[in-house]
Amino acid sequence: MARYVGPQCRLCRAENTKLFLKGERCYSAKCPIAKKASPPGKGPRFRAKKRSDYGIQLREKQKLKRIFGMLEKQFKLTFQEADRLMGKTGDNLITLLERRLDNTVYRMRFASSRKQARQLISHGHILVNGKRVTIGSYRLKVNDEVAVQAKSQKMVVIKESLKEYTKSGVYPWMDLNPDEMKGRINAFPQRSEVIDLLDVNVQLIVELYSR
Ligand code: SF4
Repeated sequence: MARYVGPQCRLCRAENTKLFLKGERCYSAKCPIAKKASPPGKGPRFRAKKRSDYGIQLREKQKLKRIFGMLEKQFKLTFQEADRLMGKTGDNLITLLERRLDNTVYRMRFASSRKQARQLISHGHILVNGKRVTIGSYRLKVNDEVAVQAKSQKMVVIKESLKEYTKSGVYPWMDLNPDEMKGRINAFPQRSEVIDLLDVNVQLIVELYSR
């Protein structure tokens, strides 16, 4: 599966907002957004330019797509699937994105970013219901168990990341046993529960794809 391999911070600078793509660094003073860096390759005149409705919708879609580290084709397919489901398309989109295995490994604090989670998965460190799964986009169901496989439980990156659990806990739709390095999905995540994505205006994304 193709993926973006360029600098992560460049994506945040393009959106002029924190997308939290690099784990700990995103919360530190080293974050270029915290230092008010300008958009990549653009001067002050670019920032002063007024955006069209299309431009605003496009930026919102790019923001969400980049948060989940997806390319256009995969993101659009997920949107089309969300559109076919019952209920609000925007809410369905968030739920489908949240059910991705790479996102869940990140949410369960086994990794400090979705990118690192994808790496753990592709290197075979993650089990779903006792079986190794190496596809980051694998979609989880209610009652699925996600675990770090026994041989990988000594990895420093995982232990360091799990320290975060003691500070802030996990999201309401999942359980986590940090000692056994495993967790379970209890329900499908609802839009209102995904607090770090509440400022993404999914309605603008729906309007963009409805053009
Ligand atoms: Fe984005 Fe994190 Fe880089 Fe800051 S440090 S610009 S939040 S990826």
